[in-house]
Amino acid sequence: MTGLPSTTRTTTQTVQSGAILPGATIGFLGGGQLGRMTAYAARSMGYDIHVLDPDPACASRAVASRTITASFSDVAAAVDLASQCDVVTLEIEQIHPDVLDAVAQHTPLRPGRDSVYIIQDRIRQNHWLQGHGFPLGPFVAATSAEDIADAVRRFGPCIAKATHGGYDGRGQVRLADPSLALDAWNTLGGRTCLVEQRIDIEYEISVLVARRPSGEVAVYPPSRNHHTGGVLTWAVVPAFITDAMTVQAQTMAVDIATKLGIVGLLAVECFVTTDDQLLVNELAPRPHNTYHHSERGNATSQFEQLVRAVCDLPLGNTQLLAPASIVNLLGEVWLQSSPPAFTDALAIESTRLHLYGKTDARAGRKMGHLSATGADSQEALSRVLASYRVLSPGTSELFDVHEPLLVRPSV
Ligand code: ADP
Ligand code: MG
Repeated sequence: MTGLPSTTRTTTQTVQSGAILPGATIGFLGGGQLGRMTAYAARSMGYDIHVLDPDPACASRAVASRTITASFSDVAAAVDLASQCDVVTLEIEQIHPDVLDAVAQHTPLRPGRDSVYIIQDRIRQNHWLQGHGFPLGPFVAATSAEDIADAVRRFGPCIAKATHGGYDGRGQVRLADPSLALDAWNTLGGRTCLVEQRIDIEYEISVLVARRPSGEVAVYPPSRNHHTGGVLTWAVVPAFITDAMTVQAQTMAVDIATKLGIVGLLAVECFVTTDDQLLVNELAPRPHNTYHHSERGNATSQFEQLVRAVCDLPLGNTQLLAPASIVNLLGEVWLQSSPPAFTDALAIESTRLHLYGKTDARAGRKMGHLSATGADSQEALSRVLASYRVLSPGTSELFDVHEPLLVRPSV
């Protein structure tokens, strides 16, 4: 495939460098599945892992030699973490700025406070992107129910989004009628929120960028992503998009990561509209669900790449070695049948199971994923979806796990 070379170099916004070698300790703010999978990669490279998370049974606990149970606004606990780590990274952006500051005073925090601070507030993030000339759909910051109603009158159908803490479609209200604005305002807690026009989406993609303290960057091939009700259902690479769109999306993602001065990973979620415009949806300064297939498809997984970036080691090659796909396993799969039919699901060619060690299956909770490779995107996706349907026939409809025919746009 064409596109940017897998690794490009830039010299802007460098921060202090120096390799943090195996044997050192990496601290994680957040102990969910993203941290757990990164911790496995770090462990296999010889690093020790400490974690801070509010949940004493967090997914990373099994991989960490020390787990601090504390909230993401607990400065004393964060200092405790930082004081025993050679570098601290994060797997969730909702960390109190005081905690980010406190960690950074003791040890390198990667990505740094400023980039996380911008990204953790959806309105701040959109203003930053707009101010730097990146393409977004129409939006307003609403400080009242009347502002939401105005937005719906101006834009048509909208989505109101909480500024902080939303994920997997949570903290969002869809509305098409101004008379529903007060309900939306109240549902979001009566606080300032972001209101976006509902975009006519042709398809969704994401681009992952890794960046080292020196400013060296590596960009991954775009991922094609399918959501049901705001939650990622499946992702596949190659994205089956035009070469021109690949280059445009990769160039934009590298530009955003560089201007933000990210050290670590940045995932850029994008919409491609029905009239072929590329828009930024949102940013994530951490490993991303849409790149779990990098463990199967790419020469370097996103998890190993994060370790390399924050430890200031040479970035790994992002080349695609095999088309690869994942499908998420939510709690509904277990609620329908426990244990799920793993034996039959894993009989499908090239399928692998990834579980996050969560014992409490709740509706909507990400418990794991299936992955598969194939000769092309269609085959990788067909395999992983077939495996899913065997595993959980009763939830296939719920999560729209049908088999789409991937069609490459002609322009
Ligand atoms: P989250 O933080 O939950 O991932 P997103 O803003 O990415 O929140 O929204 C989740 C999904 O909802 C998106 O991937 C997309 O499918 C849909 N969505 C979000 N915003 C819009 C929008 N403005 N127009 C159309 N669909 C949207
Ligand atoms: Mg999203």
